[in-house]
Amino acid sequence: MSFCDFEHLLPRVQKPGRYTGGEPGSIMKDPAQVLLRYAFCFPDSYEVGMSHLGMKILYGLANARADCWCERVFAPWTDMESLLRQEGLPLWALESGDPIKTFDVIGFTLQYEMSYTNVLNMLDLAGLPVRSANRQSLAPLVIAGGPCACNPEPLAPFIDLFVLGEGEEASSELLDLLAAHKRLGSGKADFLRAAAQLEGIYVPAFYDVSYKENGALASITPLHGAPARVRKRVVQNLDQSYFPENFVVPLLEVVHDRTVAELFRGCIRGCRFCQAGFLNRPVREKAPATVNNQCRALCDRTGYEEISLCSLSTSDYTQLPALLDGLLEWTVEQKINVSVPSLRVDRFPKEMMERLALVRRSGLTFAPEAGTQRLRDVINKNITEENVLSTAQQAFEGGWTSVKLYFMLGLPTETEEDIAGIAALAQAVVDTFYRSPGKPKGKGVQVSVSVASFVPKPFTPFQWEAMDGRDDILRKQQLLRAGVRSKKISVRTHDCATSLLEGVLARGDRRLAEVIEAAWRAGARFDGWDEQFDPALWQSCFEGLGLVPAWYLRRRDPSEILPWDHLDYGVTKAFLLRERERAYAGQTTPHCREHCGGCGIGCPAAGA
Ligand code: SF4
Repeated sequence: MSFCDFEHLLPRVQKPGRYTGGEPGSIMKDPAQVLLRYAFCFPDSYEVGMSHLGMKILYGLANARADCWCERVFAPWTDMESLLRQEGLPLWALESGDPIKTFDVIGFTLQYEMSYTNVLNMLDLAGLPVRSANRQSLAPLVIAGGPCACNPEPLAPFIDLFVLGEGEEASSELLDLLAAHKRLGSGKADFLRAAAQLEGIYVPAFYDVSYKENGALASITPLHGAPARVRKRVVQNLDQSYFPENFVVPLLEVVHDRTVAELFRGCIRGCRFCQAGFLNRPVREKAPATVNNQCRALCDRTGYEEISLCSLSTSDYTQLPALLDGLLEWTVEQKINVSVPSLRVDRFPKEMMERLALVRRSGLTFAPEAGTQRLRDVINKNITEENVLSTAQQAFEGGWTSVKLYFMLGLPTETEEDIAGIAALAQAVVDTFYRSPGKPKGKGVQVSVSVASFVPKPFTPFQWEAMDGRDDILRKQQLLRAGVRSKKISVRTHDCATSLLEGVLARGDRRLAEVIEAAWRAGARFDGWDEQFDPALWQSCFEGLGLVPAWYLRRRDPSEILPWDHLDYGVTKAFLLRERERAYAGQTTPHCREHCGGCGIGCPAAGA
């Protein structure tokens, strides 16, 4: 199969550029010269997947090997899927146009739970059985990684193995092992037994799961010599770790189309709702010179005119002034915009704002997350209203006129007063603008309030908490809207049915695989897209299988075995429970640079 086989479909679909490949920076190899063919699959649209840094890193890394050709595959949009099914054409990889069924590895990155039906759909479109047990041969090996791999149980029957934690070193070791087994002509079972011995590799078929009569987990038992607990992988030295010098530059508009600089991994903060903050511990920074060199190489090669300084809380980067000095030396002259997407309001000094103003301004986004100090203390978001307002004032005096504020509804211990506090804080930002003597002349302010529903996630201190049901979510959203009086404030709430399904899948167990498969067979695709998501379809699948979504949203007892208890992300349960108790007591925990909370990850500097 080649590009010619599906070229005739392109005029019949939206955005044909999603399917053609051939973008600058895409890597071509001679298939006869490589041992391993690797289809790196992003289970969402081209525009979403092409914006993802992890995919760019692992694509470059796999292709840096002489023995491997890694290609990109995205979920075909529904129009293309219909045509492929009508014509009996299989899913292909963008670089070669070859069907991915013939590849050695099919790897998915799991960024959000709502992409799970797309994983099944892509396997099916490839012409493969969706269940691992029905794929007998070693090739193609179906693997998955990314943040959702921290509780992969709902996908356990479909995936041959999961990579836990950071993928750079683990995927290299895995490809080495696969190359050796391919040379030997090993079978799938032998390979999986060997792979299960690598740190960070979780083979779900090697764990037997049993349930109590009340539906809770009774036991998780390792088989075939697999470890009782699988520890996540951590790249220790980011300065020495692989980072691409080139990106594939898309030919159509994608969500984020720019150079991305990763300053550090992990987060010092410990916000109690934030899964990324706990999954990615410990903090590891890159040197400013490393970041600067990487940005320069990428801008030179890609022609991008924007660099996004990306990390979980960018302003916590200890060497931000040195980095900005280095970057501004050449970016100002070349008219390259430096943007900082994730800032904490208490760490946005005026000087830094002025330096960012040397390049093109981008919008300001702040995430107070909760409307009152009491609730911000519960979630350990160590910022005050004063921090928010003084930073907003600095921003207004620096010329900014629009501010985005992110909040959550449904946080543990929330009351109506906390919800009213969201509207009050947004109003205080508006009032601050009109009171700022140095505000831009003749301009108004726009404050947009974006409100998500709190979803309790594994490996956080709130992993045992209940999630609000539909009625509570809708009532609270209504209450918030009613509290907003100014036309300068717009409120955007997340779709409640989407959040609820995310909540079910995030803390789900293996039994949910039946529901995911049923929903996919009934037509569920692109569930993260409001226009595609069909809550009634999912509801009927749950009912048909006798599973109750609310059961998965319930509060869990700390003595209960959690579906992810055999996976080890370094942070201990004892620490998470301590943090939960502190949350109930309204006590904050200092960030890691102030005081080590002894989370268990074992920072060398902290000695914990
Ligand atoms: S070991 Fe201490 S310093 Fe390191 S991440 Fe955990 S709490 Fe923070």
